Amino acid sequence: MSHTHAEPLHPLAGPLHPLGLTRVQFVEAAQARGTKAATARDEYKALFRQGIVPAWCEVADYPVTATLVEGETSKFVLRHEDGLETESVLIPMPRASGTTTTLCVSSQVGCAMGCGFCETAQMGLLKNLRADQIVHQWWAATHRVQRASSAGEPSASARVIKNIVFMGMGEPTDNIDAVIQSVRVLVDHDGAMIPASNISISTVGNPEGIEKIGALVSEVGFHRLNLALSLNAPNDAIRSSIMPVNKAWPMARLKSALAAFPRFSQSAFCVEYVLIPGVNDSDEHCDEVCAFLRDIRCSFNVIPYNPRRNSPWPAPDEASIERFIARALANGQFTKRRGTKGRQVMAACGQLGNEKIRHRKVLGDDGNYAPLVKVRVPMRNSNETSEHNPLRTNDS
Ligand code: SF4
Repeated sequence: MSHTHAEPLHPLAGPLHPLGLTRVQFVEAAQARGTKAATARDEYKALFRQGIVPAWCEVADYPVTATLVEGETSKFVLRHEDGLETESVLIPMPRASGTTTTLCVSSQVGCAMGCGFCETAQMGLLKNLRADQIVHQWWAATHRVQRASSAGEPSASARVIKNIVFMGMGEPTDNIDAVIQSVRVLVDHDGAMIPASNISISTVGNPEGIEKIGALVSEVGFHRLNLALSLNAPNDAIRSSIMPVNKAWPMARLKSALAAFPRFSQSAFCVEYVLIPGVNDSDEHCDEVCAFLRDIRCSFNVIPYNPRRNSPWPAPDEASIERFIARALANGQFTKRRGTKGRQVMAACGQLGNEKIRHRKVLGDDGNYAPLVKVRVPMRNSNETSEHNPLRTNDS
């Protein structure tokens, strides 16, 4: 599937998808259908807070086709009318003040970026999600999945969702207009009311996408939205070998994009580093990545690799994780370890991607099924493109 960035449609153009609308947009749509503004505002609150759909509009009925639970982490799958499925993960986060719940959402079904360590990459890009389909994951988690699982003892998924992270299937900057619209909806004070400071968008580093997120962050109400960068390597050679996009957006370019990113608070960028044995986990790699990060105010998040299916690499052992983190700290780099949750049910970082979908053929732009996903990756410093087949495990 080719994916071009056309001008975004106005949320009220085309069929109405109420979960993709801010309160102002929803009221405008309701008034156009003869509903009074005050009534529409109440309906909006009821839609988001109680899951009650007003009679004059529809919310797609996406069945929850699977819920996989490991401990208190659960992954759930929503099936769309075209048969494609989103995967989302509810993750309990223990805090001093009690456990909160983070929801990891998908921005695409599949992904075009082809990262070698990632399960989702094996699918290729199947489709971009609309804003309402992104918000639907929060809505279903809040009003469907929780209700189903909270019949007995309260579980992680029965708690209010406090944080949203765009770290599920897909690269958010590859579908940036829908992602930004979904963020506008999720923060709406009359709706989901998730503070912007509790939302993180994780990117492999598309500079144009980072710029668009920066423009959003510059708006009042979004100053504390979090940006996370999926770095995963100490230098361009290693990064390009596991992340083909690095050929288009090398690390120096990422650094400039981060330097230009507007900052309104003391909050740091989150830089993610999937620690892969034999690839990026030596002492020298640690020193090199810390040197790269030295002038970036960031929290360095080390994520022990969660093996995807047919992975060429194992998970790192405990000793090498601890050694790497200790060395990063000794380098003066603020470093955290991301806990591994949901590995057994393929719900951990880098493990999303419905196995059944992977064996399906791919729906092309013309509505026919194409045998292979082909993605065009722009080459550095030119308009040339090279064909990259993300169904391969690694582009190196
Ligand atoms: S790690 Fe993220 S950007 Fe890379 S292939 Fe997986 S989903 Fe896409």
